[in-house]
Amino acid sequence: MTFRVTCIGAGIASLSAAVALRKHASSIILLEAAGSIEQMNVRAAGLTLLPCGTTVLQKLGVDPVRDVQAVRVQSILELDWEDGSLRRETGPLPPTCFAAHRGALFDALVKKATGADVDGDGSPPAQLLLGKKVVDVDVASGKVATEDGSVYESDLIIGGDGVRSITRRAIVKEAIVQPSGLSVYRWTMSPSDWAHLPQDAKARIDDLVGPENNHANVIDAGEKRIVTYGCHESGLVTGALLLPDYEVPRTTEDWASAGSLTHLLSKMQDLHEPFKSLMSCIPACGLWQLRKQAPLRTWYKGKAIILGDAAHPMLPFQAVAGCLAMEDAEALQYCLGAVGHRPERVAEALSQTFCMRFIRCSIIQHFSNSSSFGNEFMEKAARWSLENNKQGQDDNVVPVTSSGLDHVVQRDIVERVRETAVAFDARTASSWVMGYTLDDFVKNGRRYILERPYV
Ligand SMILES: Cc1cc2nc3c(=O)[nH]c(=O)nc-3n(C[C@H](O)[C@H](O)[C@H](O)COP(=O)(O)OP(=O)(O)OC[C@H]3O[C@@H](n4cnc5c(N)ncnc54)[C@H](O)[C@@H]3O)c2cc1C
Repeated sequence: MTFRVTCIGAGIASLSAAVALRKHASSIILLEAAGSIEQMNVRAAGLTLLPCGTTVLQKLGVDPVRDVQAVRVQSILELDWEDGSLRRETGPLPPTCFAAHRGALFDALVKKATGADVDGDGSPPAQLLLGKKVVDVDVASGKVATEDGSVYESDLIIGGDGVRSITRRAIVKEAIVQPSGLSVYRWTMSPSDWAHLPQDAKARIDDLVGPENNHANVIDAGEKRIVTYGCHESGLVTGALLLPDYEVPRTTEDWASAGSLTHLLSKMQDLHEPFKSLMSCIPACGLWQLRKQAPLRTWYKGKAIILGDAAHPMLPFQAVAGCLAMEDAEALQYCLGAVGHRPERVAEALSQTFCMRFIRCSIIQHFSNSSSFGNEFMEKAARWSLENNKQGQDDNVVPVTSSGLDHVVQRDIVERVRETAVAFDARTASSWVMGYTLDDFVKNGRRYILERPYV
């Protein structure tokens, strides 16, 4: 039987879907806009793999330690910015809580999707095509056109094309991805970058972010915050500095760009040791403006579905959106499996996937967007960004005639999600987010599965 799949983008969502569907598809093509893996920015940062993501990854045949050289995260340390005193420790974290380098995760998923058929099941490898910017998605015919004039026709289109998704625009016209008011500098550094530091500083660094004793360090100073942890068995350390857009030059026009190291370092002058010394060794950084979006009425139409950040972008405060992208891929494979991966029943499977994923992802979007920076500061930052985004410069940004996300048309859904989310206390929320497995969700999570789609 022929079952052709086109994935738009080659981030975590599309790659996970390609691996999950490989055994069942006659062909899978991944169309990635970036012309090279370097341009994809995957080497610039790390990410935490919460148990929910680790479980999916293992089911996809990717072992976090063996294949991604990920390292365990023992606990979360909340530290004072100026004196380094420990305000709170959360942990120990479950043994399947890892930190990974995005580049290593990307390589492992690409290998699993496009490499030789290691499982001996005869499944054809997916094809990853770089420099293929998709410019048109026809959800009815299943045709996708790229900037170079090529057209790809398939039975299923997976829009794993991130927060600026073109697939989303073909499915839901009213989607609005707004600036959150926050930007983030991100970097990765290797032990050779700080090899010249005094021995006692290196020993203290090793105690906090070394592969054997790795912690997620959250260093807070009111209106700015650093999160840093080890992310690879070789000792790579990744970090992020979150700060309001009004502190950052030019992020309202560029969503992602090379960051100014001088500006980044100027923001960390009053940081305590050993982090101040460690941060002074950062070799380069990138800069992203963080966006958010209210839940959408639907994620699918015709032969197309959006997954990952294309469907449910969120702020990074729960450190889980990448894991959700993997969960989406697993759920899609599950629902397609239920209809026998038959092209004529794709619409049914897409509808079921949406119903399975929507409430969980929307609740986590809600948790993630309610940042611990506090509402007053977040509202101030968001208002500044909306007012300073010039109309017409960015077609996802609406002029600021009302505050935040209030005017977004899916207000009734936002309300329903909010009501469901408040039923959780902090502890149950955290275990519900992290402890997800598809099998358990299907068996015991009926109240989080929509009976029917909204549209
Ligand atoms: C600061 C920060 C920290 C985070 N930390 C964590 C964490 O610790 N744990 C976690 O699980 N998640 C984390 N996340 C979230 C996670 O990074 C994202 O959820 C995840 O990368 C989304 O993957 P994706 O595949 O959906 O989208 P993306 O990674 O955005 O991939 C989309 C791909 O599509 C391509 N593309 C876009 N448009 C087109 C087009 N028209 N044609 C062809 N290709 C196209 C892009 O080039 C890109 O390669 C964090 C996010 C941020 C910003």
